[in-house]
Amino acid sequence: MIDCEDPFFVLGVAREASRDEIKGAYRRLAMRWHPDRNPSPAAAVEFKRVHAAYELLLDDERLAVWQQARRDAAADGAGDRAATIGEDHIQDLPLTLEQAAAGCRRTVELPQRVRCSTCSGSGRVQHSHSVPCPACSGCGRVVRAGSRTGRCDNCGGRGYLRETVCTDCAGSGWRNEARTLEVTVPAALLAGERLRLARQAPLPAGNESRIAGDLYLEISLLRHELFDLAGPDLHCRVPVSIFRLLSGGRIEIPTLSGTTWIDLPPWPVAAGGHRLPGLGFPGKGVRAVGDLVLHPEAIHPQVAAREDCQLLELLEWRLAGDLERRAPLLADWQERLRARRDGPVA
Ligand SMILES: [Zn+2]
Ligand SMILES: [Zn+2]
Repeated sequence: MIDCEDPFFVLGVAREASRDEIKGAYRRLAMRWHPDRNPSPAAAVEFKRVHAAYELLLDDERLAVWQQARRDAAADGAGDRAATIGEDHIQDLPLTLEQAAAGCRRTVELPQRVRCSTCSGSGRVQHSHSVPCPACSGCGRVVRAGSRTGRCDNCGGRGYLRETVCTDCAGSGWRNEARTLEVTVPAALLAGERLRLARQAPLPAGNESRIAGDLYLEISLLRHELFDLAGPDLHCRVPVSIFRLLSGGRIEIPTLSGTTWIDLPPWPVAAGGHRLPGLGFPGKGVRAVGDLVLHPEAIHPQVAAREDCQLLELLEWRLAGDLERRAPLLADWQERLRARRDGPVA
């Protein structure tokens, strides 16, 4: 009886993988699923699964027992999963941040080997009349090594054939065809989380009589032009004119669902002043909704008009009267200039 899942499948490694490859795969998956790092409710279950598979693969004795059980099950076809159900299949499902946050419908294409319809899977095509042999172009002889000619093996020297190799499947009897599947992706899935579609894994060629394994769609997130996702928090660079940044005031910012207006606090901003709670990636289960963290980037505009210069001159004059308090770095710089101007230069 097989009471363990296929450890090679769980870790996503080949059956002939080295110890180092197994260790590497385990480390990657453990990082992804460790409950301390991944707040998803599925993480604890997945982490246990990965850990159990890793322990089984490192224990030669237990692994030998497992492999024997698998062979026995396959040999007597006792209705065990290993004997009658095909392998599970993992496929990447790339989503935009918006699709992942809100959920979406997606069409998934699955590669599938199907019997060639041209030759009904035989790999050969029967002709109603003779056709020239493609190997010898109908002459019955082919050139061999040393420029000598010999009898064509393909047609037995007759030069013509009633049956040729099926060109649609190159004689294999099988063709690659994509099967499409409509999938509803629930909201708030993060990269690395999987959707399980029971019995939808593609079956390998020649195994149509077996029951298909499970298809796992693993979410990956496409790069976003505005947002970077860190945990459940969205980070966004926001260009703001230096005047607005200093004085504070209303600015428009992007959100996952469109845009919104916020009141930017005047400079200097208190700690956490650019963090908007609840506007990040939506929560799911025990994972709380994230924040939207703004990173304003000061834009220094061109000063075009004489009036602009006069206003700025006034601001500069007001600043000079209170430099120590409002711009200590600048005050310190001026102090150093004064010392250099008045004292000896060392
Ligand atoms: Zn064919
Ligand atoms: Zn021939």
